[in-house]
Amino acid sequence: MSNENFDLPFESPNLPQLLTGDTRFRFRCYKGISCFNACCKRADVTLAPYDILRLKLRFGLTSEEFLKQHTVPFQMDQDGVPGLKLRTDDEGTCLMLDGENGCKVYEDRPTVCRYYPVALLNMRKKDSSQAEENYSLISESHCKGHLEDREISIEDYRIEQGCKEYDDRNRDWYRLILKKKSAGPGVGRPSEMSLQVFFMASYNLDMFRRFVLSENFRRSYRLNDAFFRVVETDDLILMDFAFQFLRQALFGEKSIAEVENAWEKRVEERKEVWELRTQAELARRQQGVMNDE
Ligand code: SF4
Ligand code: SF4
Repeated sequence: MSNENFDLPFESPNLPQLLTGDTRFRFRCYKGISCFNACCKRADVTLAPYDILRLKLRFGLTSEEFLKQHTVPFQMDQDGVPGLKLRTDDEGTCLMLDGENGCKVYEDRPTVCRYYPVALLNMRKKDSSQAEENYSLISESHCKGHLEDREISIEDYRIEQGCKEYDDRNRDWYRLILKKKSAGPGVGRPSEMSLQVFFMASYNLDMFRRFVLSENFRRSYRLNDAFFRVVETDDLILMDFAFQFLRQALFGEKSIAEVENAWEKRVEERKEVWELRTQAELARRQQGVMNDE
């Protein structure tokens, strides 16, 4: 399964033919087709945040456990923006494949798997500020579904495969990635800290929750108690907030009110701690010298 479900720069030299939701194509996939599972034996599945949330909940794992057991990292661009793919065996077979039974997480399969053989393309034309969703069709020789006697529009196929819910949940994140790519090399490589924040807010929702509920965070942003109570348990609201936070942290879109001088206050507080530590260390050394005498 080739992974082409992610945003492409509009000027890509390999720009595929752009299709819209009205485009009709010939395709059917079903258990029993001669190529059943062939696509999952060539799995290249990039994960979006909602994909990870659904799968971790299905397995009853923490974010950390899921990431460790089921994903491999890669770099999404030359600036080192981190991405994650589903883990496969050495031959490229997806570890979610349950032999002849097919996908063992079918109800929670990721976006890329739902769309295949369609690819979702998030893009923005050079002269436009609006992100657009287009599609392309992937035609691979091992996939015999293209020879089946059924024609369907891409829009109906999206509904049939449950893509809409996934797109609605991931849309803001796709736009973040697109914005980062559209910014071009002039903006420079994000700091190591920004990349770590991006990883946490995109993929490690449990860690992001701890970060948001921390004292430091509460002291830095003007958010009320009701907000903190909700994000303590509501994954979807927390995920939406993670994207909002990333827009603010990475692109300076100020939509979360900050406490004035919170950063300066923290540095000031830290300074006191550092000074106390330095004094304690000096006293300890002094004590050591006196004992030696
Ligand atoms: S998650 Fe399921 S559908 Fe997707 S590649 Fe793996 S086995 Fe196939
Ligand atoms: S028809 Fe295509 S998508 Fe369906 S099982 Fe065969 S290779 Fe996979």
